[in-house]
Amino acid sequence: MTTLIESDEHKALRAAVSAFAKSRPHDVDHRALWQEAAKLGYIGVNLPEAYGGGGGGITELSLICEELGAAGNPLLMMIVSPAICGTVIARFGTDAQKQEWLPAMADGSRLMAFGITEPDAGSNSHRITTTARRDGASGDWLLTGRKVFVSGVDIADATLIVSRTEDARTGRLKPCLFIVPRDAPGFTRRAIDMELHSVERQFELVLDDVRLPAEALVGGGEDAGLLQLFAGLNPERVMTAAFAIGMGRHALGRAVEYARERTVWKTPIGAHQAIAHPLAQAHIELELARLMTQKAARLYDAGDDVGAGEAANMAKYAAGEACVKAVDQAVHTLGGNGLTREFGLARLITASRVARIAPVSREMILNYVSHQTLGLPKSY
Ligand SMILES: Cc1cc2nc3c(=O)[nH]c(=O)nc-3n(C[C@H](O)[C@H](O)[C@H](O)COP(=O)(O)OP(=O)(O)OC[C@H]3O[C@@H](n4cnc5c(N)ncnc54)[C@H](O)[C@@H]3O)c2cc1C
Repeated sequence: MTTLIESDEHKALRAAVSAFAKSRPHDVDHRALWQEAAKLGYIGVNLPEAYGGGGGGITELSLICEELGAAGNPLLMMIVSPAICGTVIARFGTDAQKQEWLPAMADGSRLMAFGITEPDAGSNSHRITTTARRDGASGDWLLTGRKVFVSGVDIADATLIVSRTEDARTGRLKPCLFIVPRDAPGFTRRAIDMELHSVERQFELVLDDVRLPAEALVGGGEDAGLLQLFAGLNPERVMTAAFAIGMGRHALGRAVEYARERTVWKTPIGAHQAIAHPLAQAHIELELARLMTQKAARLYDAGDDVGAGEAANMAKYAAGEACVKAVDQAVHTLGGNGLTREFGLARLITASRVARIAPVSREMILNYVSHQTLGLPKSY
């Protein structure tokens, strides 16, 4: 039964993750942090027990993602590897794909990136043109196309590439998903020079007749692609919301600490309501976003994909906005120190904007709610 109040078990999980993340230095090697978190069962918590996972859901995975971020040690690839790719493979993969990927994802030894965005498609994924064609008698597939802004391709062992088959090249998207190994011939990447301080980089990808065996197609058939895609996109939104809430909480925590101590008149600056109230508002908005995120995660874990779709969009919207506001106010609270490298908040100004843009922009969520929830007509 879904309840508004978090269970004692989940509270204990939050406390354990928080203690773990706080015990690690902020400049800890990403791979080491990932593997330690995996050993504790945090990375594969949502994957099936039969394949080495924790048998939990997106509820637990998002809670872990939030706490890592709140402690200042975020792991962006959690949004991609266990949440999108792990979910898609666990729900739709062939037995061989599950055997190959899920235990390795859960124990932290392998990661998978996810590529859907294209230079000429962007928010409109119906326009993607990455195309898969069968190579005659061999049964192989040849994949051609371009992707952009794909995170973590260099640290991932493979990328789950969303494409379309040759006979469905135009019109509404009939996608098919391929697992493309990092070093597959014809699969090249170029790091994009982002104004982001993050170990996970974004890449432009070129697929030039990348030859893949039939087993690289998720599920082995061509018809379940749309279901597969939707199965992955809701967890992605919930996890992005959790990631944003973690970042917002981290920034707010640093600002509150500072505002309690910093004194330039008679009292600490935190006693001035001009400083205190916006921080209190940021806290309230993060809490509200978290409540919606929990609702979306629970609906998803309960198997209500449609209900989860609306809630996950709203949660991602609310969390993105709350994060941007919390970071903005945190930077302001520190005055000049807000913009120094030493205090580490200025870098969050750009990082916080990511949740407003990706994986689906604020405007596209407002479009979704306008059309799907409110029944308003479409402008495009
Ligand atoms: C840090 C980062 C990491 C990312 N990681 C990944 C990844 O791992 N894998 C991946 O596939 N992608 C990834 N992305 C890409 C991300 O999902 C896209 O940037 C996002 O979907 C928006 O697409 P776009 O950048 O092409 O913007 P566009 O689609 O060009 O949109 C530009 C602007 O126009 C607005 N707009 C567009 N259409 C409409 C409309 N109909 N109505 C109103 N406004 C509209 C948008 O809201 C936006 O503000 C990442 C992006 C970033 C920044």
